[in-house]
Amino acid sequence: MEQVKEKKKLGLTTWIFIALLIGALVGVILHYLVPDGSIKSFLVNGVFYIIGNGFLRAMQMLVVPLVFCSLVCGSMSMGDTKRLGKVGVKTLGFYLFTTSLAITVALTVGNIINPGVGLDVSSLQSAGTTVPETKSFADVLLDIVPKNPINSLSDGNMLQIIVFSLVVGVILAKISDEAPTVSNFFNEGNKIMMEMTMLVMKLAPIGVFCLIAKTFSGIGFSAFLPLIKYMLGVFIALGIQCFGVYLLLLKGFTALNPIKFIKKFFPVMGFAFSTATSNATIPMSIDTLKNKMGVSKKISSFTIPLGATINMDGTAIMQGVAVVFVAQAFGVNLTPADYLTVIATATLASIGTAGVPSVGLITLSMVFASVNLPVEGIGLIMGIDRILDMTRTAVNITGDAVCTTIVASQDKAIDIDVFNAD
Ligand code: ASP
Repeated sequence: MEQVKEKKKLGLTTWIFIALLIGALVGVILHYLVPDGSIKSFLVNGVFYIIGNGFLRAMQMLVVPLVFCSLVCGSMSMGDTKRLGKVGVKTLGFYLFTTSLAITVALTVGNIINPGVGLDVSSLQSAGTTVPETKSFADVLLDIVPKNPINSLSDGNMLQIIVFSLVVGVILAKISDEAPTVSNFFNEGNKIMMEMTMLVMKLAPIGVFCLIAKTFSGIGFSAFLPLIKYMLGVFIALGIQCFGVYLLLLKGFTALNPIKFIKKFFPVMGFAFSTATSNATIPMSIDTLKNKMGVSKKISSFTIPLGATINMDGTAIMQGVAVVFVAQAFGVNLTPADYLTVIATATLASIGTAGVPSVGLITLSMVFASVNLPVEGIGLIMGIDRILDMTRTAVNITGDAVCTTIVASQDKAIDIDVFNAD
């Protein structure tokens, strides 16, 4: 009888969303109903500021070690697959290509919708608006190569960290027998960082409440419309990628019916949507590709886990629209060189984003940092991120399946009869 009452506990997502709503409400009340004075200032510039920014700092704390470990592990497993030779290179090429297409779509949609225009939050920034230093394209390119990787790690220069970790991972894969301790070190480091991420995410409701309450207490209702526009922008760009770009790629590179593909793959998308976890959908994806579309497991068992680790088109899309949103909200002008930097960093950030919930939000800080956008911007969008996370995860894994199907079709590793069967 003791266990009769099994109360359903609210999940973290629900708590974050509740925190967003209450935070917005408290902020609006503070903005309109509480006169300026010491109590308001104590709450807004004291409590909310300290807790909200403390949470942001904890998120930032994760970025360097998380990306470093997960990329070394990712490229280690990639190195293993050298056996797959051509397929491996082709898959990688497709993954990078679709991600850079995705981020371009996102930047374009962002600049058409202008989600952050009219939302002036530059006053919220403690250190004043950062002016991005202008760099020539050649310098942007050169800057990818780290002169001193230890410096890159301590400065949090993500592009350089990514290059360095990719090289370390590939070499570790090659000499794994000679360096088992280091390989284990990175695998275990990866696990520790995933645990730490989960721990920090547990604080998200409190952090989100404080950040949103502070934002809304400063600007009142004027923040609502831009946030809705931001969400819309992400949804539209995700839709274009999923039902436009992917279908065109399937049509262009294979003789398969793209509509059939989407119909058959839809349940996997639904699963990804409900879990917001690419990693969890790996078995279902491989199974669906095999049994419903006739894609050989020989290909998918390599390309799908690889894609779930390094190919995050949906995440790159969120990051692209977020860059435009936050740049506009903070009055930062992005130059064409900045956009190129965003395309490069978001593509690489997508490689460094683990296939579990919310990590895209963490790696977003490295995209922001690459063009000197304030990380405070993440606080603005964090409260509504879960629904976007769910949707972008569905796109992330669809991208993996599309690339897999194209590679398999070119490799004649697909059973057309199974694909065409109803
Ligand atoms: N939840 C995403 C995934 O699992 C990653 C992210 O964008 O946060 O693919």
